[in-house]
Amino acid sequence: QRGESVVNEDGIEIKPEQVVGKNRSGRKFSFVTDTMYLPSIAKEVKGSDLLICEGMFADGCEDQAKEKKHMTSRQAATIARDADVLRMGLIHYSPRYNDKELNVLLEQAQQVYPEARLTKDRMRIEIPYVE
Ligand SMILES: [Zn+2]
Repeated sequence: QRGESVVNEDGIEIKPEQVVGKNRSGRKFSFVTDTMYLPSIAKEVKGSDLLICEGMFADGCEDQAKEKKHMTSRQAATIARDADVLRMGLIHYSPRYNDKELNVLLEQAQQVYPEARLTKDRMRIEIPYVE
């Protein structure tokens, strides 16, 4: 994996290309929670393969979100859009919203980042390699 040949116990040289594939880029995962919306967050999560970002509140709660150091789902989606992430999931919702009302948060996020989805703790999400 370090690009070096090794010699096995029989004295046979094993070259890297005999056992590993071509170089490929890694995968970037970003998790953002418990923060107010800051445009600069997009720089930190730029190009993520997967961004999981809190989207605690719906539109109209921007002031409350800022005061509580949280953000709206639309603000979360704005980060995803500005950071050109490949996938984005919302998480960390206010308990004021029931499951059905969470779809409102999702719809508001999707107006900015159409591929946004709702996620929850312990959910598994595949992050494929970009070939
Ligand atoms: Zn929190």
